[in-house]
Amino acid sequence: FVDIRHAKKSYGTLEVLKDISLQVHRGEIVAIIGPSGSGKSTLLRAINDLDPLSGGEIWLEDTQVNMDLPHRQYEKHINEVRQNIGMVFQHFNLFPHLTVRENITLAPKLLKGINDAEANKLAEEQLAKVGMLERIDYYPSQLSGGQKQRVAIARALAMKPKVMLFDEATSALDPELVEEVNQVMKALAEEHMTMIIVTHEMGFAESVCDRVLFMDQGVVVEEGPPSVIFRNPQNERTRNFLRKHL
Ligand code: ATP
Ligand code: MG
Repeated sequence: FVDIRHAKKSYGTLEVLKDISLQVHRGEIVAIIGPSGSGKSTLLRAINDLDPLSGGEIWLEDTQVNMDLPHRQYEKHINEVRQNIGMVFQHFNLFPHLTVRENITLAPKLLKGINDAEANKLAEEQLAKVGMLERIDYYPSQLSGGQKQRVAIARALAMKPKVMLFDEATSALDPELVEEVNQVMKALAEEHMTMIIVTHEMGFAESVCDRVLFMDQGVVVEEGPPSVIFRNPQNERTRNFLRKHL
């Protein structure tokens, strides 16, 4: 469903991704863990070509994401691809000058050409899902971090993506706000949304994910079901990392 084939990425002489391959099945939930600088964000951002690879291929279903195309054609291609990929970052990235409603309806109206009424309905549906409907006419500055992040998730979902990517969605939040965002991600998991989740929260990864990848220095050192990775890791580097983070 998501197929990463021999992904390589260098910044100058620094090899950030060293030949990474990963297949994520439809409905599967994959966690990526690993030390700072190991390449987790770079890999996630490569999936929608925000960080173009130096080598390798990214596929979403039967479409190659990172195609070599003339500029104008590439822009059209990547805009279509990105509609299928929802991304949630550590720092929300809501538009501060737009209300919650406007934040959510903007992309569907612009990219899918749907009308105001439809877009509003979509926004209301998605906000209800993340428990934020009553804040629809607030501005981001009037929301807590956890609320902003739930709006950011609703905004991504409004595009009806085929896959959701989360890059440390809760790591900028105060501890008491983490759980409300985790609950939203858990609910998505129960709906069998395909998700790739970069996280430092081992407990969450263990309870929600089907598979865990441990990355270090640009390679996938070990992968497997959470019960194995967290309870009985085979690799010394994985064990060292978990000793510090469990
Ligand atoms: P963290 O847990 O801290 O978020 P990460 O695993 O997400 O770390 P990446 O952000 O993918 O790590 O970065 C991997 C490596 O690539 C780091 O050494 C980083 O310094 C380097 N890097 C990332 N972006 C750039 C860039 N634009 N130019 C140069 N080096 C970069
Ligand atoms: Mg990162």
